[in-house]
Amino acid sequence: MHVSRPTLRRALADLPPYVPGARSPVGAAAFKLSSNENPYPPLPSVMAAIADAAVDVNRYPDMYATELTEAIAQDLGVAPDQVVVGCGSVAVLGHVLTAFCEAGDEVVFPWRSFEAYPIAVTLAGAQGVRVPVTDDGRLDLPAMAAAVTDRTRVVLVCTPNNPTGPAVRADELEQFLDAVPEHVLVVLDEAYVEFVRDPAAADGLAVFAARRNVVLLRTFSKAYGLAGLRVGFAVARARHAAGIRAASTPFGVSHVAQLAALASLRARDELLARVDAIVQERTRMLAALRAQGWTVPDSEANFVWFGVGDHATSFAERCSRGGVIVRAFAGDGVRVSVGEPEATDLLLEVTAQHLAR
Ligand SMILES: *Cc1c(COP(=O)(O)O)cnc(C)c1O
Repeated sequence: MHVSRPTLRRALADLPPYVPGARSPVGAAAFKLSSNENPYPPLPSVMAAIADAAVDVNRYPDMYATELTEAIAQDLGVAPDQVVVGCGSVAVLGHVLTAFCEAGDEVVFPWRSFEAYPIAVTLAGAQGVRVPVTDDGRLDLPAMAAAVTDRTRVVLVCTPNNPTGPAVRADELEQFLDAVPEHVLVVLDEAYVEFVRDPAAADGLAVFAARRNVVLLRTFSKAYGLAGLRVGFAVARARHAAGIRAASTPFGVSHVAQLAALASLRARDELLARVDAIVQERTRMLAALRAQGWTVPDSEANFVWFGVGDHATSFAERCSRGGVIVRAFAGDGVRVSVGEPEATDLLLEVTAQHLAR
């Protein structure tokens, strides 16, 4: 007998899973370096804002996150109508794609890069076009420009690239943008922008000011340490921003998250001092690994990439036994977030032994 039942969209069958970074087992003494989180706890001022906001959770939040939107705009020197806040920049990326892509349109993105990209593109009904990163983990922007066709609607540029680490340089981004037709939207995903120290790196805000087809994505999850509250945003031309806002989940950013993000902007200097400390720790980690004989790409973010290929899973297991939980991308490599100095020390013990074997 034929059983009729609701069918899921075919696209879901091919959806790659989003694998979250492993969490440490309750009670186990292990450092969690698997999700590029900020190792520092929230500042007292941010905790106070969260507690204050908690009293109002019987009400819907401000749908347009007006105060936060204005504060972000002022902070970046853009207009409030050019900022769209959402429930993490992953959600905002989804809204951007929904706002710009018709079914079957192509979206070009680097690979390996952020694992949310193929999922978001597929869910938007678009067709993903992956362009391999170079052997040293850099985006291959000439190849990405060459991958643009008549059907391309959006290109995703992850800088610094998660999980490999390097940032796109200003000169190469200029050449890329000159090569890409102006009707193609270029999304610069700058989730780790606060960790960038290379003076040659692209300045997203300057590029946004100069180019009509550029959108920036930023987040409070990494440098600002609010991963658990889910706040990210897009910076876009007012007309684009209006479309992205129209495609957004209503009331997507909670009142607690809005007030915590506002408090974090007010505590910017204190939080950016922590970012400086993480950057110093990154420098120490990279130098020590190279001194041990490892070949690791430069990182402008809060993580380091080991391109160990088929050894990814076994290397990650060894790290885990050594007390650091890392993120393996099977067959490709291992990403280790920069956290506490004690965590770096444990990692370096494992990596020293790994090479010795
Ligand atoms: C972590 C990350 C984000 C931010 O995600 P949220 O949803 O804002 O937590 C965006 N893009 C990349 C490349 C990331 O690594």
